[in-house]
Amino acid sequence: MSLSLSRERNSEEITSFQNLNPSFKSLGLIDPLLEAIEQLDYKTPTDIQVEALPPALEGRDIIGVASTGSGKTAAFALPILQKLWDEPKGLFACVLAPTRELAYQISQQFEALGSAMGVRCTVLVGGMDMVTQSIALAKKPHIVVATPGRLKDHLENTKGFSLRGLKFLVLDEADRLLDMDFGPDIDGILKAIPKERTTYLFSATMTTKVAKLQRASLSNPVRVEVFYGVHLVQYYLFVPLSQKDVHLVYLANSLAQNSIMIFTRTVHDAQRLSIVLRNLGFAAIPLHGQLSQSQRLGSLNKFQSGSRKILVAQIGLDIPTVDIVINFDIPTHSKDYIHRVGRTARAGRAGKSITLVTQYDVELIQRIETVIGKKMDLWPTEKDEIALLRERVEEACRLTATELREEGGKGHRKRRRGGREDKDDTETKEDGDAI
Ligand code: AMP
Repeated sequence: MSLSLSRERNSEEITSFQNLNPSFKSLGLIDPLLEAIEQLDYKTPTDIQVEALPPALEGRDIIGVASTGSGKTAAFALPILQKLWDEPKGLFACVLAPTRELAYQISQQFEALGSAMGVRCTVLVGGMDMVTQSIALAKKPHIVVATPGRLKDHLENTKGFSLRGLKFLVLDEADRLLDMDFGPDIDGILKAIPKERTTYLFSATMTTKVAKLQRASLSNPVRVEVFYGVHLVQYYLFVPLSQKDVHLVYLANSLAQNSIMIFTRTVHDAQRLSIVLRNLGFAAIPLHGQLSQSQRLGSLNKFQSGSRKILVAQIGLDIPTVDIVINFDIPTHSKDYIHRVGRTARAGRAGKSITLVTQYDVELIQRIETVIGKKMDLWPTEKDEIALLRERVEEACRLTATELREEGGKGHRKRRRGGREDKDDTETKEDGDAI
């Protein structure tokens, strides 16, 4: 078995099992949007995008139960931009957001996704100069992203500005909009826009207030939901780099009843850790880019059928749900983190993610926390138990290193005897596992 020690690019993990996920193209998006998506390096649509895009592109109103980190902004921005491409007339869409920061983020995503079609966006938020905003409005933007109070101000005071030609209204983070007492402003805005329009309402939670707003503003909507962040508890575990293996085994041990997906950065670690865990008696199986397609499917089948409780993966994949996601290596890109932890806490079920953080990863975890909009909790550990495990884990690691060396040697000899180049990839032990 020849194993690469190179650091694979994290974002590639999402593409590797693309055949199991619909692509942006198959969802019916037009070329200028597909180009922008490629530029942004979005490999596959997130769950909320998979669910929301088809009905949205058919022209339906949408209620999206989803929070920050789910990819909800693109889920509402893409169908709006697609329709804008067909009829680029006047002020086309208005997005209401509860905070200034969110409004700017939304506008940036519209601009990035609409970059190949020259979309013009304006942000109208409190605390900024009204006159400058009025000048921006006079330049006829296609999209306005606003906090409700300031938008209402402009409707009342800015000459020549109206929402009468509007085709789309988005109420983003509706629960927060209503918690912040924007209800009356929103009512005023609803009166100033045409009834004939498409409306998208996104909210992390469906409160009674949100349900009331929904009845007042949407017609015959399609409801799509992902529970990212609602039923998911996200933990981190601070460990010195040299002690990652023993902490991983500790986690596997204390969570033994659960289905666990462990993500690694390299092929080598996926292979190595699955053997270490097996040498310690855990039913672990690897999944990485150097396995043949049939071995990958074999690994997946065993994991999904429950005959293996632990999948150690270096590549992404779409499986219905797991109880626990462990990031043995913290992802370098926040969006990869989101995709990974999205394997758990699906369809209303509870789930946990635990990310190992070393002394070199502090900045990365802070960046992830900013993107997901929450602080992770510290996973509690029993120091004595870890100390007790240490010797056995070190022994298992030594044994594994020897096994891997021998496997490597065998592969090498086979190649010298003129065996097929990919022999290493297809080699399996007698029970058919990929290790
Ligand atoms: P949101 O939930 O809209 O706040 O998005 C969270 C982050 O995910 C943003 O940084 C987006 O740029 C990113 N994102 C959205 N859709 C995708 C996708 N399909 N693949 C990768 N990243 C995405």
